[in-house]
Amino acid sequence: MFNALVVTRDEDKKTSASVQSIDLDQLPEGNVTVAVEYSTVNYKDGLCIGPGGGLVREYPHVPGIDFAGTVESSEDDRYQAGDKVILTGWRVGEVHWGGYAQKARVNADWLVPLPDGISAKQSMAVGTAGLTAMLAVLALENHGLKEHAADGTPVLVTGAAGGVGSVATALLANLGYKVACVTGRPEASEYLTSLGASQIVAREEINETTKRPLESESWSGCIDAVGGPMLARVLGQLKYGSSAAAIGLAGGAELPATVIPFLLRGVNLLGIDSVMQPYESRVAAWNRIATDLPMDKLEAMIHPASLTDLPQLGKSILKGEVKGRVVVDVNV
Ligand code: NDP
Repeated sequence: MFNALVVTRDEDKKTSASVQSIDLDQLPEGNVTVAVEYSTVNYKDGLCIGPGGGLVREYPHVPGIDFAGTVESSEDDRYQAGDKVILTGWRVGEVHWGGYAQKARVNADWLVPLPDGISAKQSMAVGTAGLTAMLAVLALENHGLKEHAADGTPVLVTGAAGGVGSVATALLANLGYKVACVTGRPEASEYLTSLGASQIVAREEINETTKRPLESESWSGCIDAVGGPMLARVLGQLKYGSSAAAIGLAGGAELPATVIPFLLRGVNLLGIDSVMQPYESRVAAWNRIATDLPMDKLEAMIHPASLTDLPQLGKSILKGEVKGRVVVDVNV
């Protein structure tokens, strides 16, 4: 028997989450069983711990969209007992039971080996949020970020004090880019500066609507976790030919933009999806994370948690109240 955070739903479709002792036989099908060590708290986890947000298909459910641990048994030649592995994406924690448990059974295709130079705990301080930040940096670099930023024009990060934003800030700063961070939390300024931000922009400043479809070319690129009116405004502030990587919708799914920035400034809007990333791309991104992300800055982002903290943390992340990265030690 082992512990898991189990979400149940009653006849009135009301969900509740509690730590329960469950059996290996209850785990879903898969060809690799992993002794989970760490998981994290992402926006989607908040939805899945609560009413599901349309992500969960069947109850009871074990959320947790990412985890790191050690292979306990494997029917797949690529993995042996004792191998350290990471899982992100592939709808684990949504339609397949996830990482909020001391054991998980998954498909070998969804795993990647833990790269050298990073511990299981550090890998979950990165987690899905950090992988997404890395994918966004790679996408921007493939679209000329280095050239656009060569004159010192900053890269903008929105939702900066959140999970993706924190890792994106540290990664970009470590790669030598000037980073401007948009935050709605003035008290997070010191934290963001410690991660490498050279400029803090108040959320209201960019959320204000304007009738002007084009403004000064202020940013060499953008990693956007917010969407909505903020992303629409940023499009009109990008340098000629530069790109915004859209990773999230913490500020809304609508995009009230005009086509003018695309037509008159040749800007690009790049969609980033971490969920269905093929194996090679996940391995490449994790290897870059292990070499490019300063581990001391990563440590500064960590808030430790246990399985019993998750019901409350699920609510906090949906309200945008979590700063940095929550790392869940499932064995405490
Ligand atoms: P967090 O909750 O940790 O961070 C989101 C941040 O956005 C908050 O910390 C806050 O930053 C800001 N924010 C929240 N609400 C608003 C609002 N109404 N208006 C403006 N800013 C707001 O979440 P994550 O960083 O984990 O995820 C961010 C988004 O990215 C989510 O929508 C998530 O679903 C998505 N995501 C997408 C992935 C993909 O593959 N594309 C993978 C992972 C996440 P501050 O306080 O600094 O203003």
